[in-house]
Amino acid sequence: MDRIPYSCQAIEEEDIEAVAAVLRSPFLTQGPEIVRFEAAIAEMHGAAHAVAACNATAALHIACMALGLGPGDRLWTSPISFTASANCGLYCGATVDFVDIDPVTRNMSVEALAAKLDQASRTGQLPKIVVPVDFSGLPCDMPAMRKLADQYGFSLIQDASHAVGAQIDGHPIGRDADIVIFSFHPVKIVTTGEGGVAVTQDAELARQMALLRSHGIIRDENLMTNPSEGGWYYEQIMLGYNYRMTDLQAALGLSQLSRLPAMWQKREERARRYDDLLSELPLRLPARANDRQSAHHLYVIEIDETRSTVTRRELYDRLSTAGIGANVHYIPIHLQPHYRNMGFEPGDFPAAEAYYRRAITIPLFPRMTDEQQDRVVDCLKSALA
Ligand SMILES: *Cc1c(COP(=O)(O)O)cnc(C)c1O
Repeated sequence: MDRIPYSCQAIEEEDIEAVAAVLRSPFLTQGPEIVRFEAAIAEMHGAAHAVAACNATAALHIACMALGLGPGDRLWTSPISFTASANCGLYCGATVDFVDIDPVTRNMSVEALAAKLDQASRTGQLPKIVVPVDFSGLPCDMPAMRKLADQYGFSLIQDASHAVGAQIDGHPIGRDADIVIFSFHPVKIVTTGEGGVAVTQDAELARQMALLRSHGIIRDENLMTNPSEGGWYYEQIMLGYNYRMTDLQAALGLSQLSRLPAMWQKREERARRYDDLLSELPLRLPARANDRQSAHHLYVIEIDETRSTVTRRELYDRLSTAGIGANVHYIPIHLQPHYRNMGFEPGDFPAAEAYYRRAITIPLFPRMTDEQQDRVVDCLKSALA
């Protein structure tokens, strides 16, 4: 029997055509497709600016830099995320800390954030940036986080790598953060192969990020320090990187975006079907919130330890033996050796650690068939019987 992956990109002929057209064009990178892709992403989120990058990790890095994060500053994020959500703070020489999750939504807990901010304000250790993560595609309570950001004076980078197409109150996410980051890695909602984007309403932040993405180099004479010496002349005015996306990637992304509603519909159907088929098992299923529409990037189940003695390891191995590509999202970041070396310890974020002990991600992707889904469900039923 074919192995069922936990996630899988959906590439159509039209995607291949779009990439081939760029290959036949004069620009493989820094051409018109990037501009079109950025405009499409910005429009979709009602945002003034989108800055595409070679991946979401790079986008997180330049977002932190544009917001002025540096040595002596603090960045807080969720321990239940991919390590990039925290590493971007370390790249800037800042100190990274975490805020525990809400066990129901698995997102950063607003209560825990409020309590930690209150504490930090007394000791003069407030963060400069907080990075909430829309885990599995379910949007964080961004309006509440915005209030706290305004009250305590920090910036919000929403790591929406899982949440392309997600909504709050019927609007695409992104209205409450200073910068919103999306990833287009092949396991994510839509793909550009590798790719990421930073979305913002702020023209100055967008300008900074665009500069940082391309070596800190300008070609606009009005912004130069010295008079232009001719048509070839450019100036490097700060230290930037080569974090550019190619036109090949942008063309793939644009083509994929045109099918986002249809792909979301398929994910929603699969998620609902899991909700029904798994409802009787000793599991905690993903939360649904009336005011929020998840992008359904991941379908994470947790073994209910009060109703089952099966361990996560046993369940993972059973699925794996049956040819089902389960996964675990995520090992809490603070327990990674690199972060343990900074002084984090087991017990620091109990809700995240309890979640990790029980969690397993089961396959969900747009092209998943009923038959594949039934195989996953049957395996879970027999393993948990
Ligand atoms: C995938 C992911 C990233 C990094 O994305 P890349 O495009 O692979 O760099 C960052 N944060 C989260 C939450 C992710 O899932």
